[in-house]
Amino acid sequence: MSDELVARFVKRFGKGVVVEADFRRPTDCFSATVLFGPSGCGKTTTLRCLAGLERPEEGRIAFEGTPWFDADRRVYLTPQQRGIGYLFQEYALFPHLTVGGNIAYGLRGVPRRERRRLVGEMLGLFRLGGLEDRYPNQVSGGEQQRIALARVLVRRPRLLLLDEPLSALDQPTREQLRPELRRLLVEFGIPVVLVTHDRTEAVALSDHLIVLDHGRGRQQGAAEEVFNRPADVGVARIVGMENVQPGRVLHTDGGLATVEIEGMQLIALAPTSLVEQVYVCIRAEEVALVKGVSNKASPLNRLAGVIRSLTPEGPLVRVGVDCGFTLHALVTRTASDELGLRAGEPITALVKAPSVHLIARS
Ligand code: ADP
Ligand code: MG
Repeated sequence: MSDELVARFVKRFGKGVVVEADFRRPTDCFSATVLFGPSGCGKTTTLRCLAGLERPEEGRIAFEGTPWFDADRRVYLTPQQRGIGYLFQEYALFPHLTVGGNIAYGLRGVPRRERRRLVGEMLGLFRLGGLEDRYPNQVSGGEQQRIALARVLVRRPRLLLLDEPLSALDQPTREQLRPELRRLLVEFGIPVVLVTHDRTEAVALSDHLIVLDHGRGRQQGAAEEVFNRPADVGVARIVGMENVQPGRVLHTDGGLATVEIEGMQLIALAPTSLVEQVYVCIRAEEVALVKGVSNKASPLNRLAGVIRSLTPEGPLVRVGVDCGFTLHALVTRTASDELGLRAGEPITALVKAPSVHLIARS
Protein backbone atom coordinates (compact mmCIF):
# COMPACT_ATOMS: atom_id res chain seq x y z
CA MET A 1 0.00 0.00 0.00
CA SER A 2 1.37 3.38 -0.94
CA ASP A 3 1.16 5.89 1.88
CA GLU A 4 0.26 8.88 -0.20
CA LEU A 5 -2.49 11.08 -1.47
CA VAL A 6 -2.62 11.03 -5.24
CA ALA A 7 -4.71 13.69 -6.97
CA ARG A 8 -4.86 13.93 -10.71
CA PHE A 9 -8.17 15.26 -11.94
CA VAL A 10 -9.99 17.80 -14.07
CA LYS A 11 -13.04 19.71 -12.84
CA ARG A 12 -15.01 21.79 -15.32
CA PHE A 13 -17.65 24.39 -14.72
CA GLY A 14 -19.62 25.99 -17.55
CA LYS A 15 -18.14 28.86 -19.57
CA GLY A 16 -14.74 27.25 -19.92
CA VAL A 17 -13.66 27.26 -16.27
CA VAL A 18 -11.25 24.38 -15.78
CA VAL A 19 -9.52 23.39 -12.57
CA GLU A 20 -6.80 20.77 -12.87
CA ALA A 21 -4.94 19.06 -10.07
CA ASP A 22 -1.84 16.97 -10.47
CA PHE A 23 0.10 16.21 -7.31
CA ARG A 24 0.98 13.45 -4.90
CA ARG A 25 1.84 13.93 -1.25
CA PRO A 26 3.09 11.51 1.42
CA THR A 27 0.66 10.61 4.21
CA ASP A 28 2.86 8.34 6.35
CA CYS A 29 4.32 11.35 8.17
CA PHE A 30 2.91 14.73 9.02
CA SER A 31 2.98 17.09 6.09
CA ALA A 32 1.12 20.30 5.35
CA THR A 33 0.54 20.98 1.68
CA VAL A 34 -0.42 24.54 0.87
CA LEU A 35 -2.40 25.49 -2.23
CA PHE A 36 -1.37 29.06 -2.94
CA GLY A 37 -2.70 31.50 -5.47
CA PRO A 38 -4.89 34.52 -6.14
CA SER A 39 -8.65 34.58 -5.66
CA GLY A 40 -10.47 32.49 -8.25
CA CYS A 41 -7.48 30.31 -9.19
CA GLY A 42 -9.20 27.10 -8.09
CA LYS A 43 -8.03 26.51 -4.53
CA THR A 44 -11.44 25.88 -2.98
CA THR A 45 -12.53 23.77 -5.96
CA THR A 46 -9.46 21.56 -5.54
CA LEU A 47 -10.26 21.10 -1.84
CA ARG A 48 -13.91 20.35 -2.55
CA CYS A 49 -12.92 17.70 -5.07
CA LEU A 50 -10.55 16.10 -2.54
CA ALA A 51 -13.35 16.18 0.03
CA GLY A 52 -15.97 14.58 -2.20
CA LEU A 53 -18.15 17.70 -2.26
CA GLU A 54 -17.47 18.26 -5.94
CA ARG A 55 -17.21 15.59 -8.62
CA PRO A 56 -14.46 16.02 -11.22
CA GLU A 57 -15.13 15.08 -14.85
CA GLU A 58 -11.86 13.24 -15.33
CA GLY A 59 -9.09 11.60 -13.39
CA ARG A 60 -8.48 9.91 -10.12
CA ILE A 61 -8.04 10.62 -6.41
CA ALA A 62 -6.57 7.92 -4.19
CA PHE A 63 -5.63 7.91 -0.52
CA GLU A 64 -3.18 5.30 0.75
CA GLY A 65 -4.06 2.99 -2.10
CA THR A 66 -7.84 3.38 -1.78
CA PRO A 67 -9.52 5.07 -4.72
CA TRP A 68 -11.74 7.90 -3.51
CA PHE A 69 -12.62 8.93 -7.00
CA ASP A 70 -12.00 7.30 -10.34
CA ALA A 71 -13.79 8.68 -13.39
CA ASP A 72 -13.14 5.60 -15.55
CA ARG A 73 -14.22 3.09 -12.92
CA ARG A 74 -17.08 5.24 -11.67
CA VAL A 75 -15.78 5.36 -8.12
CA TYR A 76 -17.00 8.31 -6.05
CA LEU A 77 -16.83 8.10 -2.26
CA THR A 78 -18.79 10.49 -0.02
CA PRO A 79 -16.91 12.78 2.39
CA GLN A 80 -17.92 10.44 5.24
CA GLN A 81 -16.54 7.40 3.41
CA ARG A 82 -13.30 9.26 2.76
CA GLY A 83 -13.00 10.18 6.43
CA ILE A 84 -11.96 13.74 5.73
CA GLY A 85 -12.16 16.72 8.06
CA TYR A 86 -13.05 19.95 6.30
CA LEU A 87 -12.88 23.42 7.78
CA PHE A 88 -14.72 25.76 5.45
CA GLN A 89 -13.54 29.29 4.79
CA GLU A 90 -16.72 30.64 6.41
CA TYR A 91 -16.79 28.13 9.24
CA ALA A 92 -19.86 28.69 11.37
CA LEU A 93 -20.27 27.44 14.91
CA PHE A 94 -23.77 26.48 16.00
CA PRO A 95 -24.91 29.54 17.97
CA HIS A 96 -27.45 27.56 20.00
CA LEU A 97 -24.85 25.01 21.14
CA THR A 98 -22.25 25.60 23.83
CA VAL A 99 -18.54 25.36 23.05
CA GLY A 100 -18.58 21.79 24.41
CA GLY A 101 -21.73 21.04 22.40
CA ASN A 102 -20.14 22.36 19.24
CA ILE A 103 -17.08 20.15 19.63
CA ALA A 104 -19.22 17.15 20.57
CA TYR A 105 -21.36 17.69 17.47
CA GLY A 106 -18.94 15.69 15.38
CA LEU A 107 -19.25 12.74 17.76
CA ARG A 108 -22.86 11.76 17.26
CA GLY A 109 -23.13 8.00 17.75
CA VAL A 110 -20.17 7.87 20.15
CA PRO A 111 -21.16 6.69 23.67
CA ARG A 112 -21.71 9.58 26.06
CA ARG A 113 -18.81 8.94 28.43
CA GLU A 114 -16.36 8.54 25.60
CA ARG A 115 -17.75 11.67 23.98
CA ARG A 116 -17.22 13.64 27.17
CA ARG A 117 -13.67 12.36 27.49
CA LEU A 118 -12.83 13.29 23.91
CA VAL A 119 -14.34 16.76 24.25
CA GLY A 120 -12.39 17.30 27.47
CA GLU A 121 -9.21 16.26 25.70
CA MET A 122 -9.84 18.73 22.86
CA LEU A 123 -10.63 21.58 25.30
CA GLY A 124 -7.22 21.01 26.87
CA LEU A 125 -5.28 20.67 23.64
CA PHE A 126 -6.88 23.77 22.14
CA ARG A 127 -6.50 25.86 25.32
CA LEU A 128 -10.26 26.21 25.67
CA GLY A 129 -10.47 25.03 29.28
CA GLY A 130 -13.20 26.83 31.23
CA LEU A 131 -15.07 27.86 28.11
CA GLU A 132 -17.01 24.61 27.72
CA ASP A 133 -20.38 26.01 28.81
CA ARG A 134 -20.15 29.34 27.02
CA TYR A 135 -21.89 30.07 23.74
CA PRO A 136 -19.98 31.03 20.58
CA ASN A 137 -20.92 34.71 20.90
CA GLN A 138 -19.34 34.74 24.36
CA VAL A 139 -15.83 33.83 23.17
CA SER A 140 -13.22 35.68 21.08
CA GLY A 141 -12.62 35.29 17.35
CA GLY A 142 -9.42 33.35 17.93
CA GLU A 143 -11.22 31.01 20.33
CA GLN A 144 -14.03 30.50 17.82
CA GLN A 145 -11.47 29.48 15.25
CA ARG A 146 -9.89 26.97 17.64
CA ILE A 147 -13.33 25.58 18.51
CA ALA A 148 -14.12 25.12 14.82
CA LEU A 149 -10.84 23.29 14.32
CA ALA A 150 -11.40 21.18 17.44
CA ARG A 151 -14.84 20.21 16.12
CA VAL A 152 -13.27 18.92 12.92
CA LEU A 153 -10.28 17.20 14.55
CA VAL A 154 -12.17 15.47 17.37
CA ARG A 155 -13.20 12.78 14.89
CA ARG A 156 -9.57 12.17 13.95
CA PRO A 157 -10.01 12.44 10.18
CA ARG A 158 -7.53 10.72 7.87
CA LEU A 159 -7.00 13.92 5.90
CA LEU A 160 -7.61 17.47 7.06
CA LEU A 161 -8.69 20.13 4.57
CA LEU A 162 -8.46 23.77 5.66
CA ASP A 163 -9.77 26.60 3.48
CA GLU A 164 -8.12 29.92 4.42
CA PRO A 165 -8.29 28.93 8.11
CA LEU A 166 -7.15 32.30 9.49
CA SER A 167 -8.79 34.67 7.03
CA ALA A 168 -11.81 35.43 9.23
CA LEU A 169 -9.59 36.77 12.01
CA ASP A 170 -8.20 40.24 12.60
CA GLN A 171 -4.49 40.77 11.96
CA PRO A 172 -3.16 40.53 15.57
CA THR A 173 -5.19 37.38 16.26
CA ARG A 174 -4.04 35.88 12.99
CA GLU A 175 -0.40 36.51 13.84
CA GLN A 176 -0.85 34.99 17.27
CA LEU A 177 -2.71 31.94 16.00
CA ARG A 178 -0.41 31.16 13.07
CA PRO A 179 2.38 29.41 15.00
CA GLU A 180 -0.18 27.81 17.27
CA LEU A 181 -2.09 26.37 14.33
CA ARG A 182 1.14 24.86 13.00
CA ARG A 183 1.91 23.40 16.45
CA LEU A 184 -1.56 21.85 16.72
CA LEU A 185 -1.43 20.40 13.23
CA VAL A 186 1.98 18.84 13.87
CA GLU A 187 0.74 17.50 17.21
CA PHE A 188 -2.25 15.80 15.60
CA GLY A 189 -0.04 14.47 12.85
CA ILE A 190 -2.90 14.28 10.36
CA PRO A 191 -1.84 15.19 6.83
CA VAL A 192 -3.23 18.57 5.83
CA VAL A 193 -4.07 20.29 2.59
CA LEU A 194 -4.45 23.98 3.34
CA VAL A 195 -5.52 26.87 1.15
CA THR A 196 -4.21 30.39 1.49
CA HIS A 197 -3.37 33.46 -0.57
CA ASP A 198 -1.24 34.92 2.23
CA ARG A 199 2.51 34.55 1.77
CA THR A 200 3.45 34.73 5.45
CA GLU A 201 0.87 32.09 6.22
CA ALA A 202 2.12 29.87 3.41
CA VAL A 203 5.71 30.07 4.66
CA ALA A 204 4.75 29.55 8.31
CA LEU A 205 2.39 26.64 7.79
CA SER A 206 3.62 24.65 4.80
CA ASP A 207 5.98 21.77 4.24
CA HIS A 208 5.15 21.82 0.57
CA LEU A 209 3.68 24.56 -1.57
CA ILE A 210 1.74 24.32 -4.81
CA VAL A 211 1.22 27.55 -6.76
CA LEU A 212 -2.07 27.61 -8.67
CA ASP A 213 -2.92 29.94 -11.51
CA HIS A 214 -6.05 29.81 -13.61
CA GLY A 215 -6.88 26.41 -12.20
CA ARG A 216 -3.50 24.85 -12.91
CA GLY A 217 -0.54 23.96 -10.73
CA ARG A 218 2.36 26.09 -11.97
CA GLN A 219 5.15 25.21 -9.56
CA GLN A 220 5.60 23.20 -6.39
CA GLY A 221 8.26 22.67 -3.77
CA ALA A 222 9.39 24.10 -0.44
CA ALA A 223 7.77 27.49 0.14
CA GLU A 224 11.06 29.40 0.45
CA GLU A 225 12.32 27.86 -2.77
CA VAL A 226 9.15 28.68 -4.71
CA PHE A 227 8.94 32.22 -3.32
CA ASN A 228 12.60 33.01 -3.95
CA ARG A 229 13.11 31.08 -7.17
CA PRO A 230 9.91 31.15 -9.24
CA ALA A 231 10.11 29.00 -12.37
CA ASP A 232 8.60 31.59 -14.67
CA VAL A 233 7.40 35.14 -14.74
CA GLY A 234 3.77 34.08 -14.11
CA VAL A 235 4.73 32.43 -10.82
CA ALA A 236 6.95 35.44 -9.99
CA ARG A 237 3.87 37.66 -10.29
CA ILE A 238 1.70 35.34 -8.16
CA VAL A 239 4.26 35.06 -5.37
CA GLY A 240 4.69 38.84 -5.35
CA MET A 241 8.32 38.97 -6.45
CA GLU A 242 9.10 42.67 -5.95
CA ASN A 243 11.90 43.03 -8.50
CA VAL A 244 11.48 41.51 -11.96
CA GLN A 245 13.65 43.18 -14.61
CA PRO A 246 14.40 42.12 -18.18
CA GLY A 247 18.11 41.55 -18.59
CA ARG A 248 20.74 39.97 -20.83
CA VAL A 249 23.37 37.42 -19.86
CA LEU A 250 26.79 38.71 -20.99
CA HIS A 251 28.89 35.72 -19.97
CA THR A 252 29.23 32.96 -17.41
CA ASP A 253 32.27 31.92 -15.46
CA GLY A 254 32.69 29.27 -12.75
CA GLY A 255 28.96 28.92 -12.13
CA LEU A 256 28.36 32.67 -12.01
CA ALA A 257 26.55 34.62 -14.68
CA THR A 258 27.10 38.29 -15.42
CA VAL A 259 23.84 39.95 -16.38
CA GLU A 260 23.25 43.39 -17.81
CA ILE A 261 20.19 45.42 -16.84
CA GLU A 262 19.87 48.93 -18.24
CA GLY A 263 23.63 49.32 -18.46
CA MET A 264 24.23 47.99 -14.94
CA GLN A 265 25.97 44.66 -14.37
CA LEU A 266 24.92 42.08 -11.82
CA ILE A 267 26.37 38.74 -10.83
CA ALA A 268 23.94 35.84 -10.39
CA LEU A 269 24.29 32.14 -9.75
CA ALA A 270 24.08 30.63 -13.23
CA PRO A 271 21.13 28.26 -13.62
CA THR A 272 21.82 24.90 -15.24
CA SER A 273 20.19 25.79 -18.51
CA LEU A 274 20.98 29.36 -19.36
CA VAL A 275 19.64 31.49 -22.17
CA GLU A 276 20.69 35.00 -23.10
CA GLN A 277 17.41 36.81 -22.58
CA VAL A 278 16.31 36.58 -18.96
CA TYR A 279 14.21 38.13 -16.26
CA VAL A 280 16.25 39.04 -13.21
CA CYS A 281 14.31 38.44 -9.97
CA ILE A 282 15.39 39.80 -6.60
CA ARG A 283 13.29 39.67 -3.43
CA ALA A 284 13.15 43.13 -1.84
CA GLU A 285 14.10 41.69 1.56
CA GLU A 286 17.33 40.37 0.02
CA VAL A 287 18.48 43.90 -0.82
CA ALA A 288 20.62 45.63 1.82
CA LEU A 289 21.27 49.36 1.74
CA VAL A 290 24.39 51.29 2.74
CA LYS A 291 24.89 55.02 2.71
CA GLY A 292 26.73 56.73 -0.07
CA VAL A 293 28.10 55.57 -3.38
CA SER A 294 30.18 52.55 -4.23
CA ASN A 295 30.31 51.27 -7.76
CA LYS A 296 32.46 48.14 -7.66
CA ALA A 297 30.91 44.99 -9.15
CA SER A 298 31.72 41.74 -7.33
CA PRO A 299 29.88 38.52 -6.37
CA LEU A 300 28.40 40.77 -3.73
CA ASN A 301 26.64 43.12 -6.10
CA ARG A 302 26.96 46.81 -5.31
CA LEU A 303 24.51 49.03 -7.15
CA ALA A 304 24.94 52.76 -6.74
CA GLY A 305 21.71 54.69 -6.98
CA VAL A 306 19.44 57.39 -5.67
CA ILE A 307 16.49 56.89 -3.32
CA ARG A 308 13.28 57.69 -5.18
CA SER A 309 10.58 56.54 -2.76
CA LEU A 310 10.04 55.43 0.83
CA THR A 311 6.75 53.64 1.54
CA PRO A 312 5.90 52.37 5.04
CA GLU A 313 4.64 48.75 5.10
CA GLY A 314 3.83 47.90 8.71
CA PRO A 315 7.11 47.47 10.59
CA LEU A 316 9.04 47.75 7.31
CA VAL A 317 9.78 50.45 4.77
CA ARG A 318 9.81 49.75 1.06
CA VAL A 319 12.58 51.76 -0.56
CA GLY A 320 12.60 52.42 -4.31
CA VAL A 321 16.17 52.92 -5.51
CA ASP A 322 16.91 54.23 -8.99
CA CYS A 323 20.09 52.48 -10.07
CA GLY A 324 19.48 52.55 -13.81
CA PHE A 325 16.33 50.56 -13.15
CA THR A 326 14.12 50.73 -10.08
CA LEU A 327 15.21 48.29 -7.42
CA HIS A 328 12.91 47.78 -4.44
CA ALA A 329 14.38 47.06 -1.03
CA LEU A 330 12.57 46.22 2.21
CA VAL A 331 14.24 47.39 5.40
CA THR A 332 13.01 47.74 8.96
CA ARG A 333 11.87 51.15 10.13
CA THR A 334 14.73 51.13 12.63
CA ALA A 335 17.27 50.52 9.88
CA SER A 336 15.66 53.22 7.76
CA ASP A 337 15.87 55.72 10.65
CA GLU A 338 19.43 54.75 11.55
CA LEU A 339 20.55 55.15 7.95
CA GLY A 340 18.61 58.40 7.72
CA LEU A 341 17.10 57.32 4.41
CA ARG A 342 15.60 60.23 2.45
CA ALA A 343 14.33 60.63 -1.09
CA GLY A 344 16.94 62.14 -3.39
CA GLU A 345 19.91 60.88 -1.36
CA PRO A 346 22.61 58.66 -2.89
CA ILE A 347 22.62 55.07 -1.67
CA THR A 348 24.28 51.78 -2.50
CA ALA A 349 22.21 48.59 -2.75
CA LEU A 350 23.95 45.30 -1.91
CA VAL A 351 22.66 42.00 -3.27
CA LYS A 352 24.40 38.65 -2.94
CA ALA A 353 24.74 36.65 -6.13
CA PRO A 354 22.64 33.70 -4.77
CA SER A 355 19.78 36.17 -4.21
CA VAL A 356 19.69 37.06 -7.90
CA HIS A 357 17.43 34.57 -9.62
CA LEU A 358 17.29 34.28 -13.39
CA ILE A 359 14.24 33.18 -15.41
CA ALA A 360 14.33 32.52 -19.14
CA ARG A 361 12.54 35.23 -21.13
CA SER A 362 10.99 34.04 -24.36
P1 ADP B 1 -10.39 30.15 -5.15
O1 ADP B 1 -10.82 29.32 -3.99
O2 ADP B 1 -8.96 29.94 -5.53
O3 ADP B 1 -10.70 31.59 -4.96
P2 ADP B 1 -12.48 28.72 -6.58
O4 ADP B 1 -12.03 27.31 -6.54
O5 ADP B 1 -13.54 29.13 -5.63
O6 ADP B 1 -11.21 29.69 -6.44
O7 ADP B 1 -12.97 29.05 -8.04
C1 ADP B 1 -12.22 28.71 -9.21
C2 ADP B 1 -13.01 29.07 -10.44
O8 ADP B 1 -14.12 28.21 -10.56
C3 ADP B 1 -13.56 30.48 -10.45
O9 ADP B 1 -13.47 30.96 -11.76
C4 ADP B 1 -14.99 30.31 -10.01
O10 ADP B 1 -15.81 31.31 -10.53
C5 ADP B 1 -15.32 28.95 -10.62
N1 ADP B 1 -16.35 28.23 -9.84
C6 ADP B 1 -16.20 27.77 -8.59
N2 ADP B 1 -17.31 27.13 -8.16
C7 ADP B 1 -18.18 27.18 -9.21
C8 ADP B 1 -19.50 26.70 -9.42
N3 ADP B 1 -20.15 25.99 -8.50
N4 ADP B 1 -20.07 26.94 -10.63
C9 ADP B 1 -19.41 27.61 -11.60
N5 ADP B 1 -18.18 28.10 -11.47
C10 ADP B 1 -17.55 27.89 -10.29
MG1 MG C 1 -11.64 29.94 -2.12
